[in-house]
Amino acid sequence: MVEHMKWWGWGRESVSFSHGDKPELAPFIRTHIGLDITRPPAQAPAFADLDVAEPTLPEPLRAALVEAVGAEHVHTDTLDRVIHAYGKSLRDLVRIRNQDLGRLPDVVVYPGDEDAVRAVLTAALDADAVVIPFGGGTNISGSLEAPRDEIRPVISVDLGRLDRVLDVDTDARLARVQAGALGPHLEEQLGAQGWTLGHFPDSFSHSTLGGWIATRSSGMQSDKYGDIAEITRAVRVVTPAGVLVTRPVPSQSTGPSVREMVLGSEGRLGIITEATVQVHRVPEERVILGYFFPTWDDALVAMREIAESEAQVTVTRVSDANETRFSFATRKKGSLASGLVSSGMKQYLRRVRKWDLEQMCLSFIGFEGSAGHVRAQRKLVGEIVGRHGGLCVGTGPGQLYDQKKFDTPYIRDFLLGQGAVADVSETATSWSTLAPLYRGVVARANKAFEEIGVKGWIMCHLSHSYHSGACLYFTFAYATPITLDAIVGYDTVKSAIQQGFIDLAGTLSHHHAVGVEHASWLADDISPAGVSLLTALFDGVDPGRNLNPGKII
Ligand code: FAD
Repeated sequence: MVEHMKWWGWGRESVSFSHGDKPELAPFIRTHIGLDITRPPAQAPAFADLDVAEPTLPEPLRAALVEAVGAEHVHTDTLDRVIHAYGKSLRDLVRIRNQDLGRLPDVVVYPGDEDAVRAVLTAALDADAVVIPFGGGTNISGSLEAPRDEIRPVISVDLGRLDRVLDVDTDARLARVQAGALGPHLEEQLGAQGWTLGHFPDSFSHSTLGGWIATRSSGMQSDKYGDIAEITRAVRVVTPAGVLVTRPVPSQSTGPSVREMVLGSEGRLGIITEATVQVHRVPEERVILGYFFPTWDDALVAMREIAESEAQVTVTRVSDANETRFSFATRKKGSLASGLVSSGMKQYLRRVRKWDLEQMCLSFIGFEGSAGHVRAQRKLVGEIVGRHGGLCVGTGPGQLYDQKKFDTPYIRDFLLGQGAVADVSETATSWSTLAPLYRGVVARANKAFEEIGVKGWIMCHLSHSYHSGACLYFTFAYATPITLDAIVGYDTVKSAIQQGFIDLAGTLSHHHAVGVEHASWLADDISPAGVSLLTALFDGVDPGRNLNPGKII
């Protein structure tokens, strides 16, 4: 039995966000976006209220799918179809709350092995049906939904039964893993043998290896382990031309990389069934330390110096002043972090260090390895931080961040229930353009808030450092009635931010993929000639546009 998230929002039905134990949050939100979150929230939508069109599934196709995967793994019930219809973008969540279901899949199939996946694809192509691979359904780029005007039958292929680690080559430190494995189950199987993949996106609990590969995902510990693009050493993909198999060699010179073509392909080239991924021994020690910096500019320079130094860190993350203040406002009463900015600490920073506390930035830096290695890296990083006016505040905030990072996504549904939209946009750019891009994007977002007449909030953090640059991750929020009209205002703000990325030397997305959400900026990002190359690739592999049509281009 494959477990899914709640159909109308993030995560498990039994879990939701609460502000009751975070006394500073309600006043913070009231001050900054004018919303009173102490009111009773709107009820979650009722499934019985949905008006769901009957599926269109010609009998010969249904019979072929039953033959391919077995009758008990062919589902046409309404709940399954709704769950597989879309991801978890803000647009998806607003639409579902307003019963705008779009084009649901007609059938959901759950193949149990690669042969079954091949049989599903053959049946689909024979019937000229549309095939949309489904991992965990966590994407926020509109990567799963069928085009509204699709008249052919739509098949959602849920990879959830392909969830095993098949073997680990302990010499090469490579694991063969089935594509439908969810983060926790994958780490559990590797951990039982003393290994880790080291890929921990914030969506880890509900996303899959195949989804990570198909969207070029990045996890919080990418500084050490790399993005999924580096972690994935080989793939098996069921395509219309047969099973594409690449070899898990450390490097190769065999023309343009076919492995790279599969990375980020969002189901447009076929169904990934398996990948060979780099794994690492579970480290002896793992610690995330908190640091304060006097200003964002100081913190950015320190992050760059850490990236170009000999320090080997697992996480580099620093919040701007707004995100720092938001983090403090979400502290639980009596928690480890509540003593962090005690009045004594505040007085010290203000009087002795001469800091303007409104500008202070909170950073997390992660270290892993043997005790000696961790000690040496901490020292190196401590010296760099110190040179830029920063100071270490110990393991308390890091532990808290580590504990709550997978719960944070629940806040979006809570805010929607209260009458506010909150969403993210992220990019990557070089160290030389990071600071101007940041300032430009914040200015554009604030202008967009003005344009749509709302009191908006924007905050940002830097994460995922590379030799040449880093990712900037923006979060914005404002109060608005959660009707379908909310999407119009949302588009104004989101577009202003995305256009800012393109105009200010960033990419349209560092790790959230293209889908339909970001497709209009693709030609700006990779040039019209780049789009022609991709078009030729997709058309060549899938001339009938049966594979997740309309995504990326
Ligand atoms: P799905 O959403 O099911 O599918 C995504 C796309 O991949 C679709 O086009 C689908 O057709 C295709 N696909 C899925 N499986 C296969 C397969 N086996 N073969 C071929 N195509 C396939 N992303 C990050 O990288 N880092 C983060 O930290 C992060 N945090 C997030 C936090 C939240 C709260 C949310 C909502 C999203 C976050 N994301 C993050 C985005 C999302 O989790 C990623 O895009 C993730 O990689 C999607 O994986 P999935 O298994 O859920 O794929």
